[in-house]
Amino acid sequence: MQRPYNFSAGPAALPQEVLQQAAQEMLDWHGSGLSVMEMSHRSKEFMSIIEQAQADLRDLLAIPQAFHILFMQGGGIAENAIAPLNLSRGDKADFIVTGSWSNKSQKEARKYCDVHIAANGDAAGFTALPHPSHWDLRADTRYVHLCSNETIHGLEFHELPDLKALGCNAPLVVDFSSQVASRPIDWSRVGMAFGGAQKNLGPAGLTLVVVREDLLGQAMPHCPSAFDYRVVADNQSMYNTPPTYAIYIAGLVFQWLKRQGGISAMQARNIAKAELLYQAIDSSQLYSNQVDKSCRSRMNVPFFLSDEALNQPFLDQAKAAGLLQLKGHKSVGGMRASLYNAMPIEGVQALVSFMQEFERTRA
Ligand SMILES: *Cc1c(COP(=O)(O)O)cnc(C)c1O
Repeated sequence: MQRPYNFSAGPAALPQEVLQQAAQEMLDWHGSGLSVMEMSHRSKEFMSIIEQAQADLRDLLAIPQAFHILFMQGGGIAENAIAPLNLSRGDKADFIVTGSWSNKSQKEARKYCDVHIAANGDAAGFTALPHPSHWDLRADTRYVHLCSNETIHGLEFHELPDLKALGCNAPLVVDFSSQVASRPIDWSRVGMAFGGAQKNLGPAGLTLVVVREDLLGQAMPHCPSAFDYRVVADNQSMYNTPPTYAIYIAGLVFQWLKRQGGISAMQARNIAKAELLYQAIDSSQLYSNQVDKSCRSRMNVPFFLSDEALNQPFLDQAKAAGLLQLKGHKSVGGMRASLYNAMPIEGVQALVSFMQEFERTRA
């Protein structure tokens, strides 16, 4: 069956092989007579699923032993509160604001700590990343937060900053919701990273937190126990019932990623996919993308049609051509094509052909 190409920003496309395997295993997982959804989270069957998922993820992302992998709930948005509750001690936290998501994070953190915006790309309309050499970091900040890929504005850090080289000893906190597993991560530059699974790892409902051991155990007294990283880590992500089915599907995605050649292979594919689409946009008269070329996102490509009256016909015809969910986020308008790992190059080729044909016949 040829399914349409799904360019949704999230919940996003999953690999077809994963969906097929889940369908086959739906009624009877590995001879257990149970669906994964019906298993006790403490059963040996489910324990094998979660342990395998953690081991595969550690392997894929080369996560050092000094970091805990936590499977939590609440999504990236809950982490905007959970992170300051765990890491700020009610004291200082510095934020790099590069688009909607980091801006949302700093606003939420204000409920819990003393927030300082160390850099803000707002004046430039979030079309470029403020250079780290210009960041105004406080020497005694508890942590520095950034969003490594701004899903709405389409900006990506192609390299994480080395805070130590900037004279800052605080840990870096990274919202990698829409970037995780698309490329390798330099863990030597990270204290904690978090992301909802529904962009590039699996279904909604699962939140991944990767946190360095020395950052555990400093949660504020009113932090809910279920959100205290120390408690979650000590209970192997089983302090409360974890999102079992979402963990199972994410585990199938991790095995799929291994079969694809791992994260470096995905990175190479993601570069090729993004280059194909940006090149088509840059060489057209109808489409444009305003983001500085040095920090264009490989995962989320926003673009605009020069004539807004063509937006709806573009979306209608794209849908008829089997190209789904291309409408841009309501806060910025235009279009957005998300090119996560599950999007094959053939999908981007089909989109580019469609865009060229649309421009030829309509513009
Ligand atoms: C989608 C997204 C979020 C929000 O995730 P939820 O699961 O809806 O809470 C946060 N940060 C970034 C960068 C995102 O792309």
